[in-house]
Amino acid sequence: MDSTQLIFLGAPGSGKGTQASRLAKDGGYAHVSTGDLLRKEIAKGSELGQKVQGILSDGQLVDDQTVLKLLQANCDLKKSAYIFDGFPRNIEQVKMLDKVLIKEHPSKAIYFEIELDQLLGRLVNRRSCKSCGKIYNLLSNPPRTQDLCDSCPDAGKLEQRADDQEEVVRKRMKVFGDTIAPILEYYDSQSRIMRINAGKREEEVYSQLRKVVESS
Ligand code: AMP
Repeated sequence: MDSTQLIFLGAPGSGKGTQASRLAKDGGYAHVSTGDLLRKEIAKGSELGQKVQGILSDGQLVDDQTVLKLLQANCDLKKSAYIFDGFPRNIEQVKMLDKVLIKEHPSKAIYFEIELDQLLGRLVNRRSCKSCGKIYNLLSNPPRTQDLCDSCPDAGKLEQRADDQEEVVRKRMKVFGDTIAPILEYYDSQSRIMRINAGKREEEVYSQLRKVVESS
């Protein structure tokens, strides 16, 4: 396994979560998604979950320190190479990630580039399995049986994320549009970023991803 830490950047619905799960399995990376960690806290009903629930359902960002702490509690870069999915979300988080977690570890950012107007349709039609987390799209990648997961032996039920409702998706896209430029500038200025065309089919995106990960 390559020990380079990978930082996945891209708009909501750009497919970075799906690609991260796949690459983690094939490439021996640990996949950490701050969105998933926050949703787990909400599902548990923990104090943190209660604090952030309203923020997620409104499509806004949770405060940087809270997310950083959660991330630190769930990563050990001495043990694994990670795919960071959903963190950093603003320039402050970019700097925190470098200072607190990445430090001297080799790392590269990968930007999943896509036209934003392709994304609304992707997100409102997105469903995921309650039990294994597998992601479907009702239009482009529907399950064989309506509402049920193809991969789970006990046919897990598919659900829609609360923040994949159209009105919230629009807010999440705005947050992304307002924050991404300085993040790209930072990684560009250090020549630490590679771009892939995320507007293609899943298989094609994956082969581009493998190429950029394997290139030095
Ligand atoms: P995601 O699953 O990455 O689309 O994230 C879902 C939601 O979780 C976001 O809309 C934010 O409310 C919250 N969230 C996830 N990651 C972060 C982060 N790095 N900073 C702040 N909020 C986050």
